Amino acid sequence: MTNWTLAARAAKMNPSAIREILKLTDKPGIISLAGGLPAPQTFPLDAFTAACNTVMARDGAAALQYATSEGFAPLRRAVADMLPWAVDPDQVLITTGSQQALDLIGKVLLDKDSRMLVETPTYLGALQAFAPQEPIAVGVASDDDGILVDDFAAKAGTGADKARLAYVLPNFQNPTGRTMTEARRAALVAKAAELGIPLIEDNPYGELWFGEAPPAPLTARNPDGCIYMGSFSKVLAPGLRIGFLVAPKAIYPKLLQAKQAADLHTPGFNQRVVAEVIQGDFLARHVPTIRALYQRQRDTMLAALEREMAGLDVTWTRPAGGMFLWLRLPAGMDAQALLPTAVERNVAFVPGAPFYATEADARTLRLSYVTASSAQIDTAIAALAEAIRAQAQG
Ligand code: PMP
Repeated sequence: MTNWTLAARAAKMNPSAIREILKLTDKPGIISLAGGLPAPQTFPLDAFTAACNTVMARDGAAALQYATSEGFAPLRRAVADMLPWAVDPDQVLITTGSQQALDLIGKVLLDKDSRMLVETPTYLGALQAFAPQEPIAVGVASDDDGILVDDFAAKAGTGADKARLAYVLPNFQNPTGRTMTEARRAALVAKAAELGIPLIEDNPYGELWFGEAPPAPLTARNPDGCIYMGSFSKVLAPGLRIGFLVAPKAIYPKLLQAKQAADLHTPGFNQRVVAEVIQGDFLARHVPTIRALYQRQRDTMLAALEREMAGLDVTWTRPAGGMFLWLRLPAGMDAQALLPTAVERNVAFVPGAPFYATEADARTLRLSYVTASSAQIDTAIAALAEAIRAQAQG
């Protein structure tokens, strides 16, 4: 009989907690605030149809041939031009979604038992992407203004134990919706530079601001000390799997070698189509329509929470952009335990625990305001409040 002895890293891999939850919530009539999907009505279908036709007519077989690992040159240039600091297109690596950038960074910077710092809570998909390297993920305390710089310094480690990287999401964070203030950004970049710890800045949501644009990226303040990650998933469409990283020259060649080994290159056809779609001022016209939709949906959810959670010891974040808000249940309550009660009332959310690297706050949960309609958000938040009341009494 074949003996499928698992590698230690495979034995440690788990099904995504979110995917498991989504299975539980896959029943007719349920309103899901659990998913992390962008609203499909924001995908610019006509622009994609036209771009596909243009690419095939213009590039023909070249669009279907193997290509360079760095990425399609016009797309690398467009990415460099989009960013608000001086970026050499040679520092841009096109990745198969920004999720792949996380995988490449983990392979290049982390050994088994390497210390790595993350926010509390942080993006679950990053914890999963880094997990095969078997690092020690250390949660740094965070508040509404972002990561706490004193705790960052306290947890940085020294000598051989010094953190190999700190992974941060300064804009409209997944899962909390929080944004790091200008002062906190400046302090974090200065402290990381002083301690010599690379910052990994993940920014898939930065363009989805509501009132005003967020402060400048961390990387703009110290490009040699940071790897920046971006994505077209939330401003065009996620199914194309087009993301990118911008890395200092000191580390770019290693990331490129990891990319080559992983998948040779990101699909060239998709890169050409994205480069074609974003030509000219397309994003400047398209992204404001996404902002307007998501802002309306956020307003609906915040108003519903004010109305329905009255009298309950529940708190929530008020995101200034992005797709998610973060809710904290009354003392003694557990979001995981609440979920079946909520699903019975036809509403689903993601419990917060899997987003913590270290000690989880079991009272937390994530809500998406972008895929349900405004009417569904009203119904769902009322149902969630009922579930909380039922649980509190039970
Ligand atoms: N980083 C964060 C914070 C995310 O929320 C996501 C998508 N959920 C990703 C990275 C990955 O996005 P993509 O691979 O589609 O670019």
